[in-house]
Amino acid sequence: MTSTRADAQALDAADPLARFRDAFDLPAGVIYLDGNSLGPPPKAALARLSETAASEWGRDLIRSWNTNGWMEAPLRVGGKIAGLIGAKPHEVTVADSTSVNLFKLAAGALSLRPGRTTLVAQAGDFPTDLHILQGLGELMGDRARLKIVPEGELVEAIDADTAAFVLTHVHYRSSQRWDMAGITAAAQAKGALALWDLSHSAGAVAVDLNGCNADLAVGCGYKHLNGGPGAPAFLFVAERHLGAIRQPLTGWLGHAEPFAFEDVHRPAPDIRAMTTGTPPILSLAALEVGIDLHLSADRAAAEAKGGALSDLFIALVAARCPELTLASPRAAAARGLHVSHTHPDGYAIVQALIARGVIGDFRAPDVLRFGFSPLFTRFTEVWDAVEVLAEVMASRAYDRAEFRARAAVT
Ligand SMILES: *Cc1c(COP(=O)(O)O)cnc(C)c1O
Repeated sequence: MTSTRADAQALDAADPLARFRDAFDLPAGVIYLDGNSLGPPPKAALARLSETAASEWGRDLIRSWNTNGWMEAPLRVGGKIAGLIGAKPHEVTVADSTSVNLFKLAAGALSLRPGRTTLVAQAGDFPTDLHILQGLGELMGDRARLKIVPEGELVEAIDADTAAFVLTHVHYRSSQRWDMAGITAAAQAKGALALWDLSHSAGAVAVDLNGCNADLAVGCGYKHLNGGPGAPAFLFVAERHLGAIRQPLTGWLGHAEPFAFEDVHRPAPDIRAMTTGTPPILSLAALEVGIDLHLSADRAAAEAKGGALSDLFIALVAARCPELTLASPRAAAARGLHVSHTHPDGYAIVQALIARGVIGDFRAPDVLRFGFSPLFTRFTEVWDAVEVLAEVMASRAYDRAEFRARAAVT
């Protein structure tokens, strides 16, 4: 048990990943526990952005599509992400946002299961996932039906009409990590496809899409992958579905030969069929740096340290802030890299912490959420953050009007 700050210092001193901290550009005086919402910038990403802008965009201009690997960038970066999620390089590409990729793959799942019309999802999952499915359902009329079931009842709800389920692997609010292998197998036994959202998993916890026989997946580039605000997202289609899957956003870059400039869309035979338009080169450049950084870290050490950081936070909060109720699973293996607690004054508490340089976030109605990154969070920072939290709770420092006014983004 880490019961003093010196114990936390000893953990930092023995940390095999400690050197990664210096790879990030983090401001002094801030304990950043929100890499699960917006990963901080790798220093090398800032350099790469100015380099790409100045010499590729600026000097080489349009020639860069051929000479600087711009055209292949989505597949190249997707191939690297594959190494973090248990996929083959040609099963992953980078495009659009998570929301748009979910739309394409949910429609794609319906195309792979003709005759089946239902998409099953869980109540309380990340809003965009449910909203996108709702929009797809409205567009498709009686050819697509959205069934939202209570948490934990997904598998039972899958029936002979189900084309696919959609589920976030690590829940954005509770941090609950669902059993990817078990749920995928149960759905497939009923003939349905598995579509996983890895937004809170990629770069955070071990993911083995092919080991779990997953069919489809999407995920976010700007959270644990440190791709930068609004970074493009990724998508995965299992090899066995490539060539067969169809998606409705049939833009020219999903065409088999974009530069044949044909009137009629002929989908590419590979993962490129899942893409639509021109890739965002500057954002891809920054994202690639984040991915490279993750790939250079020992995954097992990262998983172990992520669990240890969040275990420490849970233990210290339980000992020192009994007013807060743990809302995440207790076992590290059943969680992602963030930990949630509830308190009726959660919003104001988070604001009071941010005013003191401890950055976490709040999720309505009453969740305080803190994320722990094995690449840049120190054990002493966990200790110090709980010190500040305990002070805020004991003094009721959050009980001030300025901390209660809601900003647009929480
Ligand atoms: C963050 C997140 C998204 C983000 O979607 P955008 O299209 O990038 O806004 C989607 N799904 C989940 C589960 C997320 O956590």
